[in-house]
Amino acid sequence: MTSATFRFYEELNDFLPAERRRQSFTCECARAATVKHMIEALGIPHTEVELVLLNGESVGFERVIFDGDRLAVYPKFEALDISPLLKVRAQPLRVLRFVADAHLGGLANLLRMSGFDTLYDNGFEDGEIAEIAAQQGRIVLTRDRELLKRRIISHGCYVHALKPSLQLRELYERLDLARSARPFSLCIHCNLPLHEISPELARSQVPPLVGALYSHFLRCDACQRVLLGGFALARHVCTAGTSAVPIAERIGPPLRLEAPHQPVQFIREVRKPA
Ligand SMILES: [Zn+2]
Repeated sequence: MTSATFRFYEELNDFLPAERRRQSFTCECARAATVKHMIEALGIPHTEVELVLLNGESVGFERVIFDGDRLAVYPKFEALDISPLLKVRAQPLRVLRFVADAHLGGLANLLRMSGFDTLYDNGFEDGEIAEIAAQQGRIVLTRDRELLKRRIISHGCYVHALKPSLQLRELYERLDLARSARPFSLCIHCNLPLHEISPELARSQVPPLVGALYSHFLRCDACQRVLLGGFALARHVCTAGTSAVPIAERIGPPLRLEAPHQPVQFIREVRKPA
């Protein structure tokens, strides 16, 4: 039998039983077991791992473990460029396009509001998500660690938080999203770019009061929805005080985006009364 010593770092410990967290432990490995096989046998999806040091040297997932080996396993270091050290996959996890599993619709919407291309459909099967991620180079977002163990998925994030707003915060911190966010550049329904349209064109499609009050409008060419430009309403509420409230109520409930490092912003879909 082969035995090796493992030490997992940072949030990778969340996947381990309490007695193995934040300390070295030795365990038996199957004969000819690889690094990937053992890491996943211990409960950690390989997509969570960015760097494996085996006896102090960076190695890939396919490296076979020998008796007496010592492994140090690290999660993603998005704030720190460790690309010269990386062996587990060809590129660090910096491609910021996502595919969310069927339970993360709220998070998918918030990511789209932040401008991140995020595929989501509550009918997606696990196999379909894995195929999409592999073919389109997308990061899989899920709370299902079995999904992340699929071999064809190279980039994935296990989402720890339960509430969409906290899930968004978790991803912002973990993947350093603030630098690449482009709020209100995508339609949250279609995941396609929004375009600015002229106030004249917008006024033919929105309630007269909205057309009179605002001059910055965006439209999705796919679903034809018209939206108020990102900051227009927030500014109006601030400058007009409570008198803006009845107007806001007529336009519809706001979608609220609270992302770390950014002020609270609003975007509203405007519909002509039926
Ligand atoms: Zn749309």
